[in-house]
Amino acid sequence: MKSPRLCLACGSAFVPLLHVPRQRYCSSAACQRARRRDWQNHRLRIDSDYRDNQSRAQAKWRASHSNYWRDYRAAYPVYRERNCSMQRMRNLRRSFKPIAKMDVVGLPRPLGSGFYLLSHADDGGAAKMNVWTVHIAVLSGPTAPPI
Ligand SMILES: [Zn+2]
Repeated sequence: MKSPRLCLACGSAFVPLLHVPRQRYCSSAACQRARRRDWQNHRLRIDSDYRDNQSRAQAKWRASHSNYWRDYRAAYPVYRERNCSMQRMRNLRRSFKPIAKMDVVGLPRPLGSGFYLLSHADDGGAAKMNVWTVHIAVLSGPTAPPI
């Protein structure tokens, strides 16, 4: 009887099969899939012939299944929506330009204590009916971050 060892995929203890003395993954289906995936990733890294063969086989498969991804996206709208939202995020990130300290440089001068005319922004300045004269006493204001 072999001594138990730990599976490389799930970490649980298993007893290697008698005819597989170097077994490093347990027999569960998920761990066997992980074993094959690890083997293939390793092979893709170290073997350029294998890599070329895989690349050619994938190109051939794509050529003969040219509608696969279009059909897949049509059949799985959740997948499609996730892709779209992730692409929107990437586009936003790509075009994002930080607005440089608008709260500081955008104002002609810092708001000080004093009398102000206050109106609803919704009114659009059409009538002077709903305008309040208010006195604002500034207790503290935003401080400019160091430039
Ligand atoms: Zn396992």
